[in-house]
Amino acid sequence: MSFRRLLPSFLFAALLIGWLVTLLLVFGSLRHDTDEQFDRIDASQRLETAMLDQEIGVRGFLSTFEDEDLDPYREAKQRFDALMVQELRRARSEETRAALLRLRSAAGAWQSLAAEDVRRLTLDDTRFRDDLKTREAPIDTFRAELSHYQELLERERERDANSLLRRAVALIVAVSMLVGAIALVVLRRGTLRERRYNRAQAEFAAAMQSAGDEGEADELLKRHLERQLGDEAVVTVLRRTPGDDRLRAGTPPHAGTPLAAGIADARPRDCLAIRRGAAHSQGDEEPLVACGVCGGSGPASCRPLLVGDGIIGSVLVEDPNGRAARDRRVVSDSILQAAPILAGLRTLALAQSRATTDALTQLPNRWALQDALQRMQAQANRSHRPLSLVLLDIDRFKVLNDTWGHDAGDRALVAVGRALTGELRESDLAARTGGEEFAVLLPDTPLQGAMAVAEQLRGAIAAVDLDLDDHSLTASFGVAVLGLHASDAEALMQVADRALYAAKRAGRDRVEVAEAPLPGPRVSSTLDEPDVPVL
Ligand code: GH3
Ligand code: MG
Ligand code: MG
Repeated sequence: MSFRRLLPSFLFAALLIGWLVTLLLVFGSLRHDTDEQFDRIDASQRLETAMLDQEIGVRGFLSTFEDEDLDPYREAKQRFDALMVQELRRARSEETRAALLRLRSAAGAWQSLAAEDVRRLTLDDTRFRDDLKTREAPIDTFRAELSHYQELLERERERDANSLLRRAVALIVAVSMLVGAIALVVLRRGTLRERRYNRAQAEFAAAMQSAGDEGEADELLKRHLERQLGDEAVVTVLRRTPGDDRLRAGTPPHAGTPLAAGIADARPRDCLAIRRGAAHSQGDEEPLVACGVCGGSGPASCRPLLVGDGIIGSVLVEDPNGRAARDRRVVSDSILQAAPILAGLRTLALAQSRATTDALTQLPNRWALQDALQRMQAQANRSHRPLSLVLLDIDRFKVLNDTWGHDAGDRALVAVGRALTGELRESDLAARTGGEEFAVLLPDTPLQGAMAVAEQLRGAIAAVDLDLDDHSLTASFGVAVLGLHASDAEALMQVADRALYAAKRAGRDRVEVAEAPLPGPRVSSTLDEPDVPVL
């Protein structure tokens, strides 16, 4: 799991710990303050004890008049004074300080009387033995002041405890709100990111559904992944070609790159992701087994395009920043969404190709020819350029079949198909229209050019070497030009067919031009033939 995914959990843990520590500190300080208050109350009681100990000490002396019997008094006085100094220092308010000072002065009044008695008796002035000062009044005053001071302390303790509690609650609420707010922000950011991601994936799925063909779908997958992974990532969709066990780039890599070299002549097995049926990634280090396709590239990761039991290709992400390795989810989700659509488009393309391709010669069949004728007719009408049709039929093909067998006949048909395509331009189209009959569409070709092509084809068929004793093939040709011999595709086929049969009747192995030119205005295709009557 990536660090980014764990970040919210870390953050929550840190906030929780922070919150607990705050709680502990608050309660710690509460306890410290409360302890100090109790200690002050305890000190007030010790003040009383020290005061009474002084009184007891004085009484002890007064009963013996021995100087050492004054020691308890002296010790208690010292204790009292030290305690008083300490408590005056600890006084929190002017009120308690004033109460302490009053307490000290009450004690002082008692001490003056006691000191006076002790002094007089120490001088052995027995005259005063029956004239001792009465110290009860200052003691009572001391007690009254002490009880007042203790009340003040108690009130102060309650007030402090309340205020501390309020502060603690406020602090806990504030920290909790802060934790909550941070958690909300983190959650919201996570939710927003998740929503953005889901929206992008939904948009991608919808776009894939409407892809018209494999090329468009491959491009979409590439664009979507590159957009999600950032500018640095370069995505290449690799596809198995059905039948010939090859691997080709559905989205071609830049020329001259190591990948372009790796993909040239690559077989599916060369791609490690396809061979293993599992994701494969490579870093800067030399791997134990290098991928035959992307091994020469830098850091990259590659995933197979799995559909059911089959692998229809792979998706390679060249990724110098390692983003794809970190953000595997977008790559795997997108591939998961794309794979069945790519497979469906492949099946559709195959079915379409099978429906329009002749299985024996791999040439377009009659239906494909009709489609192409419609397209080329529209194009010719728009551009006012000539369109010629050449129909041809192999002569006495039945004899070949009967003499050397049906397989030899099939081989001859394949050889004728190759001979035709070998002679034609890229823009021309050769089709097998049935049996041993073929048709050739020649866009942008006037009659003379079409006749020349037909003658060329006749020669190419004659040159086909079937290795069947001395048997050589011949064919008869019918040529017709749109606009010159027919005004539409259907009529063009008919007049070319008639010309073909004229060639048959005239002895075969020859080219005949359609006979019946249509009346009407002249079109561009007739410019080469000024003597021919025109439309
Ligand atoms: P013609 O010169 O008048 O055209 O004579 P032909 O023998 O070529 O014409 P015909 O129509 O009499 O015979 C055509 C033969 O072509 C008959 C059929 O068995 C053969 N044929 C049609 N389709 C195929 C095919 O796919 N393979 C093979 N081997 N033969 C085929
Ligand atoms: Mg025939
Ligand atoms: Mg024939």
